Amino acid sequence: MRRVLILGAGTAGTMLANRLADQLDRSWSITIVDRDDDHHYQPGYLFIPFGTATAKQITKPRSSFLPPRVAFVRSGISRVRPDDNEVDLDDGRILGYDWLLIATGTVPRPDLTPGMGDGSLWYRKVFDFYTMAGALALQDVLAGFRGGRLLVHITEMPIKCPVAPLEFAFLADDHFRRRGLRHKVDITFVTPLDGAFTKPIAARELGNLLEDRSIRLATDFAVERVDNEHSTLIAYDGRELPFDLLVTVPLNTGQQYVFESGIGDESGFVQVDKQTLRSTRYDNIFAFGDATDLPTSKAGAVAHFAVELFGDNFQAAIAGRPLPNAFDGHANCFIESGRGEALLLDFNYDTEPLTGRYPLPLVGPMRLLGRSRINHWGKLLFEKLYWQVLMRGRSLPVPTLMSMAGKDQED
Ligand SMILES: Cc1cc2nc3c(=O)[nH]c(=O)nc-3n(C[C@H](O)[C@H](O)[C@H](O)COP(=O)(O)OP(=O)(O)OC[C@H]3O[C@@H](n4cnc5c(N)ncnc54)[C@H](O)[C@@H]3O)c2cc1C
Repeated sequence: MRRVLILGAGTAGTMLANRLADQLDRSWSITIVDRDDDHHYQPGYLFIPFGTATAKQITKPRSSFLPPRVAFVRSGISRVRPDDNEVDLDDGRILGYDWLLIATGTVPRPDLTPGMGDGSLWYRKVFDFYTMAGALALQDVLAGFRGGRLLVHITEMPIKCPVAPLEFAFLADDHFRRRGLRHKVDITFVTPLDGAFTKPIAARELGNLLEDRSIRLATDFAVERVDNEHSTLIAYDGRELPFDLLVTVPLNTGQQYVFESGIGDESGFVQVDKQTLRSTRYDNIFAFGDATDLPTSKAGAVAHFAVELFGDNFQAAIAGRPLPNAFDGHANCFIESGRGEALLLDFNYDTEPLTGRYPLPLVGPMRLLGRSRINHWGKLLFEKLYWQVLMRGRSLPVPTLMSMAGKDQED
């Protein structure tokens, strides 16, 4: 029996398990490991603080999305020993493999910024929304917040879904506007980048939108620490931003076991070839999604497009042939902008997010880098597609590789 072992039953791992169950014959065993049976639709974390999603709504059992032939092992992963082709689990078991597929994502680490996770204000005035616990705690706080300085903050790049903090700022603006409190809330978007987003055209469009919504922008802010005594965010360059509520995205790193197994970079991300997702060090290891050092967004969409290209590559790898498919870093994501509208980004390693229409030229129906109601409905509909289509190993009717169709090209 040949053995394929998948680490992580989140977005990428679940798609891989379903696709491999269809593609591999019965001479293969497929095993997947995760620490629990709660699969969270993570984009839903954004809506919980504003009371428009619940924990129950965005959580489903992982096991119900795994095909019967896939063995689901519930345990933490403590170490990969690539030279022995073995993985040690927290419960003492050891799993052997012929091929290892790593899809264990990234983890927010508030403990790595002085005064953040270990500060007295953590979950009193300082919150994250990248965990279920943080999103739920923020719901009560936002409901009771009647005015003051709100900082929406990114500690350092890369983070998963780099647009989610912007979405939080836009939704907060809308939330307080609808409650008649907007004039009492001073919102600042604080980022380590030199603009509202990484690439020039998106930074310009999103920067304009922040301005339209009277949200201040603090750029190049390299946070040194949170001063809990004075409720202040302090940067290395000496800037100090006082707050009444700090909503932060902590440093995102790879998982602890990746550091300890010596299979990742200094941030705990598995180093892979950016076109094939094969480990640069071990031929029988591939990695997917947020767990990798791919130079594109850490987003579910990236995991999805890369997994779609993997089937043929895996057959070739097994046969010892060159891998035929090259991933282009394709990412797309909706950006909630409040007031029932959203924007859409579509880009890859080489092409930055551009304005235009998606997926079809002229007709769209989605707008790229422009606000529309259809985009907002697209974002809401996507949750259903996630569970019913993607997590069943099926494809969406959109191009896997990025297409220039519909995109405006600026000089
Ligand atoms: C607020 C928010 C909004 C987002 N919005 C969007 C969006 O609009 N569009 C988009 O494309 N993406 C979005 N994302 C990002 C998207 O959710 C992730 O990029 C995607 O889930 C990554 O998939 P993955 O399989 O790599 O990791 P995950 O889905 O995080 O799966 C990793 C799995 O590994 C398991 N695991 C990790 N370590 C261990 C261990 N040591 N032992 C056992 N199990 C372990 C975890 O339990 C988890 O199930 C958002 C994320 C957040 C937080």
